[in-house]
Amino acid sequence: STFCRELPKIELHAHLNGSLSMSTMMELQRYLADSGVRDETNVFTDEFVLSAGDTRTMEDCFQVFGIAHALTCTPGALEIATYLTLQEFEADGCCYIELRSTPRDTPHMTKQQYITAILQGIKKFSLQHTMESRLIISVNRNSNKEEAEEIADLTIEFYQKQPELVVGIELSGNPTIGEFQMFVPTLTKARQAGLKVTLHCGEICNPKEILEMINYKPDRIGHAICIHPKYGGTDELWAALCKSSIPVEVCLTSNVNTKSVPSYDSHHFKLLYDANLPVAISTDDKGVFATSLSQEYTLCAETFNLDKAQIAQLALSTCKYVFDTSIREKIQENVIEFTNKNGI
Ligand code: 5GP
Repeated sequence: STFCRELPKIELHAHLNGSLSMSTMMELQRYLADSGVRDETNVFTDEFVLSAGDTRTMEDCFQVFGIAHALTCTPGALEIATYLTLQEFEADGCCYIELRSTPRDTPHMTKQQYITAILQGIKKFSLQHTMESRLIISVNRNSNKEEAEEIADLTIEFYQKQPELVVGIELSGNPTIGEFQMFVPTLTKARQAGLKVTLHCGEICNPKEILEMINYKPDRIGHAICIHPKYGGTDELWAALCKSSIPVEVCLTSNVNTKSVPSYDSHHFKLLYDANLPVAISTDDKGVFATSLSQEYTLCAETFNLDKAQIAQLALSTCKYVFDTSIREKIQENVIEFTNKNGI
């Protein structure tokens, strides 16, 4: 709706390579061809979008990121991808974003150059725009300990030099691969250096790991599906989550399209919301799931019958969960100014 589009919104869970729009991918194809990087441009961008009726499963979802990865294989392309993606979030009414991405070595750049290129895109964007952007570095669950350590060390290094841009570290990737415990020392090292931590948690039923994650007390968690007994969790997990009051990054369309939840109506947002638990409506992968942050707010309002005041309150409360606490008041003011202007 127009209201959800104009409402100043806060995006806390967006993977860069899952957020590329078709127009950004076309731009990247042209850029790579012009740069003489030809072999990588032969990708099937029409298979990138995973809509509701798609027969592909959660496992298949992790394959589609390869399409985006082929297009963000050079520093220049990655910088453009970052810039254009930020532009799209701002055009959709986003006033603060924490973008996340997994540093990769490619034939054209190192992990260090990967992070530098994204930060370059963020800085260039910030010169000409008002939306505030920060970066969370992702560690993929399919990494071995050495690679995870390497990424955490780089994250700490960049954080120490640019704490105004690099704010956190997170664990994502195929939840059927790897074990949270293996990443604990690495994540803790980053946390002790001052970085915030968010974890993909409960995308599949794994009560033992989910409990370990909640007990780790991350600053936020993503998805949190298989926690309540109704969703394959347990009473113990649900009680632990309620007690922890860890903010949950909620991704409605992502969960529906990957069939992690059967429908919008049955999404666990309702349980979280009714229990008064902290939630942050987010897109996850706006390119792959053909959505936008305003669309996620609209779907939330329509599915769960929330009025304008309740929707605005969701945006406002999300300000409390941002990793850059120094910007909290400023973005809160954005939302409050909008609600005052609209008589809410
Ligand atoms: P990137 O980190 O390359 O910018 O963004 C794509 C990556 O984000 C994927 O390769 C995957 O590791 C992670 N990712 C994106 N969406 C999801 C999701 O829904 N669940 C999990 N666990 N990881 C995801």
